[in-house]
Amino acid sequence: MVDATGTRRADVLVKGDVVAEVSAGGPLARPAGAVVLDAEGAFVAPGLVDLHAHLREPGGEEAETIETGTRAAALGGYTAVVAMPNTSPAASSAAVVRQVLHLARGALCEVQPAGTVTEGRAGRTLANMAEMAAEGARIFTDDGNGVQDAALMRRALEYASALGVVVADHCEEASLAANGCMNEGALSSLLGLPGRPAVSEEVMVLRDLALARLTGARLHLLHLSTAASVAAVVAARAAGARVTAEVTPHHLALEDELVKGYDPVFKVNPPLRAASDRRALVAALADGALDAVATDHAPHPPEAKQVSFCDAAPGMLGLETAFGVVAGLGLPLQRVLAVMSWQPAAIAGLAPAHGGPVVPGAPANLCVLDPGRRWVVRGAALASRSRNTPYEGRELVGRARHTLFRGEPVVVAEEAQR
Ligand SMILES: [Zn+2]
Repeated sequence: MVDATGTRRADVLVKGDVVAEVSAGGPLARPAGAVVLDAEGAFVAPGLVDLHAHLREPGGEEAETIETGTRAAALGGYTAVVAMPNTSPAASSAAVVRQVLHLARGALCEVQPAGTVTEGRAGRTLANMAEMAAEGARIFTDDGNGVQDAALMRRALEYASALGVVVADHCEEASLAANGCMNEGALSSLLGLPGRPAVSEEVMVLRDLALARLTGARLHLLHLSTAASVAAVVAARAAGARVTAEVTPHHLALEDELVKGYDPVFKVNPPLRAASDRRALVAALADGALDAVATDHAPHPPEAKQVSFCDAAPGMLGLETAFGVVAGLGLPLQRVLAVMSWQPAAIAGLAPAHGGPVVPGAPANLCVLDPGRRWVVRGAALASRSRNTPYEGRELVGRARHTLFRGEPVVVAEEAQR
């Protein structure tokens, strides 16, 4: 078993929706009628928590629904996800936040709706964050767009600080990102594709960090993709900014070289970057500069992806493959769980119901992770309603075996039942 307090050998007994007993080394007596889930060779851990999932409902049901997206999440070992608010309509009101929560009743994991920072994500006026916070929203973001207006971002941080919630920014300065559809560099010139420069992210990261220091507000930076962005976070944190930052599995594992075949499955914002950036992100995840891995799970139907590279919608699937991708980076399992479970749970205000530690009385939101399990990714076999996985045909090492949500075994690997 692994949680924030350490790693040890133990049996875990779940009764109802809580952890009833954790053995101190030896096996627990099996109560009559108990269901046994085999965790031999694997690790029992607090369920994974995703800060960044596009579940597409309401309005984008051709790409994903809350039902299919949370099934993908549960299969990936997640017990909680933050649903991004760039739906149609956008989650800019209590009504849409309530609708998402209603649709998530009976889902296979907890769904925490995020609200928008600005009304309709239009970037002009602040959304009513207070009424959405009253419904349970804890993270506010215009994700898909950065908040371009600096004065509006300052007011959003001040307002969020008073409400005790977090503003999470998608850092891309629009005039610099412009119509770029891949990382700007020698390769984009070679391929004849307009570039999206690293600096389009970095200028907004620097601006947001300065505003976080000015306001004292909590700031979360979404899907950082460059070495300089991470360096800026480290410096601002040392100077007192209350900032957390996430990175996606694809920015940790994939590089801009993949765009050479013009396959739109590799189009994403921010774009896949150079090898040097990718290595810096992995190092920053290992040394604590980055706080969380967040999937940016972004399902798209075929008609949005089977077009020219520049016309394709940005984004890729991530929930079912995230653990396998991150497990392949060579970090200690304790660190992998820190950035995929208890740290994101804390950022979203989902702790301690999610993220552990696994102790008697704690809600039984658990996963069993098999870090040695080899499997080949097939988009057609994923639970998502969409197929746009960048790992098609790749072998991953590491997979969730079972997932328990509120004590219910919502995912049980068939071959491991006994
Ligand atoms: Zn984004």
